[in-house]
Amino acid sequence: MEIPPLNPENKMCIYHGLNIPRYCLKALKEIDQQLAYLALLTLVGIKPMSRWEKSLGSEPIKLLQQLGLYVVQVHRTALNGTEVKETLFSTTKAYIEIYKNRWEGQLLDKSPQTVRFEGFLFGYPPCCVEAYIENPYTPNDIDPVQQEALFHWACKGCTITPLLLPLYQKLNSILVDCD
Ligand SMILES: [Zn+2]
Repeated sequence: MEIPPLNPENKMCIYHGLNIPRYCLKALKEIDQQLAYLALLTLVGIKPMSRWEKSLGSEPIKLLQQLGLYVVQVHRTALNGTEVKETLFSTTKAYIEIYKNRWEGQLLDKSPQTVRFEGFLFGYPPCCVEAYIENPYTPNDIDPVQQEALFHWACKGCTITPLLLPLYQKLNSILVDCD
């Protein structure tokens, strides 16, 4: 895996036409590597939108914005009454708006309808979403290390996930090399 070239503004080329400030990715990685990985997957568009469920301070939110992502926080309530603050980010403002309009102030929900809606927004293959609703975490044919790097559980015999894996690996390598 080649190290992405640096241009004079210290931008990092992820794809032709997609250059991001290296220091932002590096700083985000230092705060939380998983968050930086999710940000990259969202920036390239393989995930139309992403959700971060742990609490997030103002610094990582600023970094996500500097990377070119729209960020919004949505307040939810767990079934036990606990207040939950979710952070959503996307390169597409419409997805953020759709999610916020639907879920601001609402209870957390794991119904099949919601899992489908979230699968659509988060870029999960529809076959995997349906299989997950039917029977979550059915053993699949994906290498466990590769499965670990995904944000959805691949369905058995999935024909979409194997096509996504090289990109996931490429972005992971970019992140590992970013120091
Ligand atoms: Zn699938």
